[in-house]
Amino acid sequence: MTGADQAATDQAAGAIERARGGDARALARLLSLVENGSPGLRPVMTALAPLTGQARVIGLTGAPGVGKSTATAALVAAYRERELRVGVLAVDPTSPFSGGALLGDRVRMQDHATDPAVFIRSMATRGHLGGLSRAAPQALRVLDAAGFDVLLLETVGVGQAEVEVASLADTTLVLVAPGMGDAIQAAKAGILEVADIFVVNKADKPGAQEAVRDLRTMIAMAQRGAGEWKPPIVTTVAVKGEGIGELVAKVDAHWSWLDSSGQRDARRRTRAREEITAIAVAELRQRVGGLPGDSRLDALADRVAAGELDPFTAADELVAATSARQD
Ligand code: GDP
Repeated sequence: MTGADQAATDQAAGAIERARGGDARALARLLSLVENGSPGLRPVMTALAPLTGQARVIGLTGAPGVGKSTATAALVAAYRERELRVGVLAVDPTSPFSGGALLGDRVRMQDHATDPAVFIRSMATRGHLGGLSRAAPQALRVLDAAGFDVLLLETVGVGQAEVEVASLADTTLVLVAPGMGDAIQAAKAGILEVADIFVVNKADKPGAQEAVRDLRTMIAMAQRGAGEWKPPIVTTVAVKGEGIGELVAKVDAHWSWLDSSGQRDARRRTRAREEITAIAVAELRQRVGGLPGDSRLDALADRVAAGELDPFTAADELVAATSARQD
């Protein structure tokens, strides 16, 4: 490690220490590094690695309007009653807006806005799906290292991006609401596989029992081996906090199952593998894509275009050249 690297790591360690001490601005700055894909992120990640692995990550997903934010706020209240520190990360793949304001502005969240043991941040992807799957795990790492006991990861259910994000959680809650036909939608989107717990929210509206029945049928049809987790269905009225106690109990039950089955470690290992691969692939892509002033790729492209070289051999040459340059 060079002197400059050491200084950057020391500085990062200081920022993390402040964030752990409850300094929300220090934490917000660290999360901005993640969001911007800043080079300053590397020393931060190095410094915080030993502090991670403590937080419990609970993902909430579902179609817009099912009540994710309302349920998130209700869960924050429930975990605060247990005197746990709670971080909320709202990831919206449909919105170009980031920062703290989006979710914090919502009426329900304002109950928690002044609580120093609650930190709320929303992140958007600016249309880069790959960016989202890279940034979200790193943001969770930062929050984990900052000492939050529970991390609520809220994401809009819009297909693949959200399945990816949901896979970052230890426990994934899939929310549906009566009359939205989204139980069926959920099955189509492959949500069934990521759901650890189904939440039928807006149980005060007509059709809640039908939604429960549809889900029950879907769950019963899914192939499941002995000892595997069978997703329970919880009905809630998030606006009134009804059913939230039962939901928290099911999340606890799932947590115990993760522990006793060895699935927690297995899932976290899978996640780490994906994270490493995503970073490695991005790095390789950047290197192979040609550094500024590097005409090697152009020269190879000319030869392939002219039929002098096949693209496989050209790719081998490029990879060999980029790796050699790194040594
Ligand atoms: P999100 O888009 O999934 O985050 O949904 P929101 O939490 O913003 O909720 C969408 C709307 O549904 C809001 O107007 C909420 O007040 C309302 N809502 C949330 N939960 C319930 C519920 O249990 N019952 C009823 N009737 N309305 C709810």
